[in-house]
Amino acid sequence: MATVLDPSARNPISGNSRFTKDELTRFVRTVNPSFKAEIAEAFLTVGSKYGIKGDVALCQSIHETNWFRFGGDVAPEQHNYAGIGATGSVPGNSFPSVTAGVTAQIQHLYAYAAATALPPGETLIDPRYSSVKRGSAPNWEDLAGKWAVPGYDKNKYSSLDAALKAGDSYGQNIMKLYASMTDAVQATGQLVVLDAGHGGSDPGAKGFGIVEKDHALAIALKVRDRLLARYIVRVRMTRETDVFIPLLERASLANQWGADYFVSLHHNAAGGKGFESYVYTGTRQKESGKRQDIVHAAVMSALSAAGAVDRGKKEASFAVIRETKMPAILIENLFVDNAEDAALLNNPNVIDKLSDAIAIGVGQALGLAVKPVPEPEPEPEPEVPVSAQYPEGTPQWKIDAVEWLYEQGMLTDKSWKKQIDQPLPLWAEAAVLKRLYEKLLKL
Ligand SMILES: [Zn+2]
Repeated sequence: MATVLDPSARNPISGNSRFTKDELTRFVRTVNPSFKAEIAEAFLTVGSKYGIKGDVALCQSIHETNWFRFGGDVAPEQHNYAGIGATGSVPGNSFPSVTAGVTAQIQHLYAYAAATALPPGETLIDPRYSSVKRGSAPNWEDLAGKWAVPGYDKNKYSSLDAALKAGDSYGQNIMKLYASMTDAVQATGQLVVLDAGHGGSDPGAKGFGIVEKDHALAIALKVRDRLLARYIVRVRMTRETDVFIPLLERASLANQWGADYFVSLHHNAAGGKGFESYVYTGTRQKESGKRQDIVHAAVMSALSAAGAVDRGKKEASFAVIRETKMPAILIENLFVDNAEDAALLNNPNVIDKLSDAIAIGVGQALGLAVKPVPEPEPEPEPEVPVSAQYPEGTPQWKIDAVEWLYEQGMLTDKSWKKQIDQPLPLWAEAAVLKRLYEKLLKL
């Protein structure tokens, strides 16, 4: 299990997708081999346009369509991947294309997740958009009882609350699919365990509006997303929510999981400024120390550009780096109670750069393979109206005559259209005549 499924977890609908078209396609095809990659691609492109997690939306569709095998009230030709408008025996809405169907679904999610207008240039396709109370369900788990009514199995649970506590409601089941997708995609690669310090009843250090447990978790989640986006790697978190987990349990989770690297994220306090990193006492010269050199350098290159100082690479006997059996590091990302450091920690740009730097440092320290960058799709040639393919003022009868030659396959090179009044060279005439002759022979 990639994630400790916590019934109190709430996962936002808004955000970026974590997986690629190929990864999504491979996952759906493990159950439905005829699943079309085009659908996975539409979820990613439309999702990113609306700032909605397209890969989780695809899991919603897996849930709604029985792995795109349909067989319920909705038929595949309807391009309706989320049962929009389908209730009981009503077949629901139909959409003209894959993109339109996915757009309707993403718009419906957007209606629940946000209260802002459609992105510029977007047309409303979702027929039920206006029936949604805007922004009323920012998390997948909130959709039970809203998008899906009742959103749980009435035969199993007495109330939605009971189903939520059991982790068996509509949105939670979508997140379980997402967790198994994460497991399937991450079947290869080294395992990095990210440990966001503190949590729950233990807030850690506080200063200038920063609470260590929240900042550490926000950065850990960003590091996870960046690692998964950039490298062939597996990532697990000791916590993904604001929960208290004892130090020894964090280390034993990483040991149980067979982690290749343990990275604990903290912020400093009480007299000082700058960044420092720790490995367990006596391991500066070992593998932990070698990796510390790399991670520390990567982080400092981002932080020194922002004006932070380097407090150095250190050793200590902190429980999480002592009790973990694999190489481990604990980093103290600046002082929450120092005005200059806190200003950096309160700057989202710095947090992004820091998260990037940690991911890159870990990637380099482990020698992770970089994911192949997908080839950009060739731009489809814009449709030029036929008359515009000829010089201006060309009479229609000339166009019709020449177009007939193209339709018959006598002429193939479209550039001749621009020279409609020029004679064909002998070789071209010969080619046309030869094609005509061959065509006649076949008649
Ligand atoms: Zn701490």
